[in-house]
Amino acid sequence: PLLREHYLDERPDVPAMIARLNANENPYGPPQSARKAVAESVSGGNRYSWKELASLVDMLALKEGVTKDHIMMGPGSSDLLEKVAIVLFAKGGNIVSADPTYMSLIRVAEAVGATWKAVPCKSDWTHDLKAMEAAIDSNTKMVYICNPNNPVGTIMAANELMDFCSRVSTKVPVFIDEAYLELAEGDTASMVSLLSQKKNVIIARTFSKIMGMAGLRVGYAVAQPEFLSKIEKITRGGMGICHTSVLGAIASLQDKEFQAMTKRLNTQCKNYLYKELSALGYSYIPSYTNFVIFPIKMDGKTFLSKMASKGVMVRSFDMLNKPYCRVSIGTMAEMEYFVTSLKELA
Ligand code: PLP
Repeated sequence: PLLREHYLDERPDVPAMIARLNANENPYGPPQSARKAVAESVSGGNRYSWKELASLVDMLALKEGVTKDHIMMGPGSSDLLEKVAIVLFAKGGNIVSADPTYMSLIRVAEAVGATWKAVPCKSDWTHDLKAMEAAIDSNTKMVYICNPNNPVGTIMAANELMDFCSRVSTKVPVFIDEAYLELAEGDTASMVSLLSQKKNVIIARTFSKIMGMAGLRVGYAVAQPEFLSKIEKITRGGMGICHTSVLGAIASLQDKEFQAMTKRLNTQCKNYLYKELSALGYSYIPSYTNFVIFPIKMDGKTFLSKMASKGVMVRSFDMLNKPYCRVSIGTMAEMEYFVTSLKELA
């Protein structure tokens, strides 16, 4: 694999984490509307949340332009990525994906017996769709695409990806993880529209990013009902989501103002970061997400340790044996603190 992550042996002893920029969370959430809904929902916590969950599914079906049997809920999209991997790879086979990419689904697939066919990203860190298609063989059970891709932040041109998914899904299911799509500026069509053409694609979405609910755990998959019925054999999906989170999600979903604000501020803070990185002589990979990855001038572990001692949490990866920092986009104050900390690195 092209990607290797660095970890600190232990957390440094600093009074408080001043800038938590390591998990691509939304620094503004949950929206006020969701906080209120969650608080008010607590008294209903003695009952199962079937009715409320059904309302949420109806709202999501409307949003995605599909019927409700195309939607499966989960406590975060992680849960659905993992369950899909368990079902599809129970009898082995291989999974084709880009490298680097987000590893949740792939790691579970490997754990239950799959092999990973990693296809290196192109030199601009976008997916090499041609090479990925060529990597599919008779043992391939699924192609996984993370768009925009974590940890590199790149996005595929929508028409190019649409053609790929449309063609390839006639051979094997194509899983498109769109966790960050709503934060992307520009060419950002979802692959959900392929479902109306009966294509065998699975799209994962989450309330953790633009909706600001990472800790409240709500996500969903949109796929063909026949595909979801296979996954349903091992999970009832939404049974893992608690009542409070369901009501929080219903409120967040309706809070278009919060979502627009998140996107606007994310872009603003990202542009500030780009400007400051350039001024400090760092290059960066242009990002369509709420994180930016850039090459650093010392080894990853030393970098993490120096940043952590200032109360800044980020991630560090080697890509093609070169060290990088992946920093999530926080509030402007957090980004200013990050930049100040970066300047002080000796
Ligand atoms: N997919 C991608 C690409 C991610 O980066 C993440 C989390 O950071 C997830 C899925 C999982 O998110 P969640 O389980 O919170 O929905």
